[in-house]
Amino acid sequence: MKCRITCIPGDGIGPEIVAQAKKVLERVAEKYGHQMEFQDILMGGASIDVYGEPLTQEAIDKAKGADAVLMGSIGGDAATSPWYRLPPNLRPEAGLLRIRKELGLFANLRPAVLYEELAAACPLKEEISRAGFDLLIMRELTGGLYFGERKTVVENGVRKALDTLTYDENEIRRIAVKAFDIAGKRRGKVTSVDKANVLDSSRLWRAVVEEVAKDYPGVKLEHMLVDNCAMQLVKNPAQFDVILTENMFGDILSDEASMVTGSIGMLASASLNDTKFGLYEPSHGSAPDIAGQDIANPIATVLSAAMMLRYSFDLDREADAVEAAVRQVLREGYRTGDIMSPGCQKVGCSRMGALLAERI
Ligand code: NAD
Repeated sequence: MKCRITCIPGDGIGPEIVAQAKKVLERVAEKYGHQMEFQDILMGGASIDVYGEPLTQEAIDKAKGADAVLMGSIGGDAATSPWYRLPPNLRPEAGLLRIRKELGLFANLRPAVLYEELAAACPLKEEISRAGFDLLIMRELTGGLYFGERKTVVENGVRKALDTLTYDENEIRRIAVKAFDIAGKRRGKVTSVDKANVLDSSRLWRAVVEEVAKDYPGVKLEHMLVDNCAMQLVKNPAQFDVILTENMFGDILSDEASMVTGSIGMLASASLNDTKFGLYEPSHGSAPDIAGQDIANPIATVLSAAMMLRYSFDLDREADAVEAAVRQVLREGYRTGDIMSPGCQKVGCSRMGALLAERI
């Protein structure tokens, strides 16, 4: 298979971690007989330095012309970087918002996996973390409260603010379809999270999700109220496979789920549109404090590349091989500084990339 991948190395540790993911993908291509065609574009601070803007139209066109986009991270230190003295529409993050919009990305996927070898970093009680967990939060990204009409007014001398939470059935259906498709590739369970005891938008959400579920007899559906889900994530995270939820609930729950793994350098993510196209990136930022030192953890980016193989290219066996390589390297005791523990061997970013590639 030929995989045309646009890469956005970005800023800070971005170029270092993307280079490791490419290394691993090239090894996958070699082993399984595929062809990886990489094309780099500039975004964020790197683009500002060259073109005076965080994302050019040419870069957008190149991203749209690919099968998938693999990104490192963008942005710098807001206190010291000259990028943050520019007007907001010219700052690094404006590039990220624009590319997400241009690519029509509406489904954000954030897996939260507790690796047995890193269980010590998990802040949960040992009797809970012992069971491990491997869940994925699917968050709607373009609707709901963050995109509804909003205003602040003064009525009879009293300040009043209004935000609106709107979803139509098509917005709910398209993300529900994604969630069921992906649950079918995993352990076959969707937990749809809402606040249907209070909100109309949640009642519509629940009704549409149930309609979609009828087309997936092999996937089990359960509903959960968002307040209960927040509790269950710390009480019994092993019960979850795919958590499907709207924008704001997903924003909050995905951060909670990330924190219970305890390891920021291990968290992958993907944003998908209604085709097989997706943008894959680690959940962490550009870590300017450790940039250029070859000490960043590339595993979140490598795992994002595994998601790309699985969801954009349907290369499940190859994705499994990358995830197995991560587990093996951890089992053998190799660690970057951020996940280091006594008795393990500390390695840098590029060495970790090489170790992973060797284990494919
Ligand atoms: P950050 O995630 O970059 O860093 C937080 C802490 O975690 C730092 O101490 C950093 O050294 C460490 N860290 C992060 N990733 C690591 C890795 N792979 N290996 C080892 N250690 C790692 O968050 P921040 O410092 O708040 O943000 C820095 C910049 O990144 C800001 O400009 C921010 O806007 C940007 N950012 C970008 C994205 C994105 O591109 N999607 C996401 C979040 C933050």
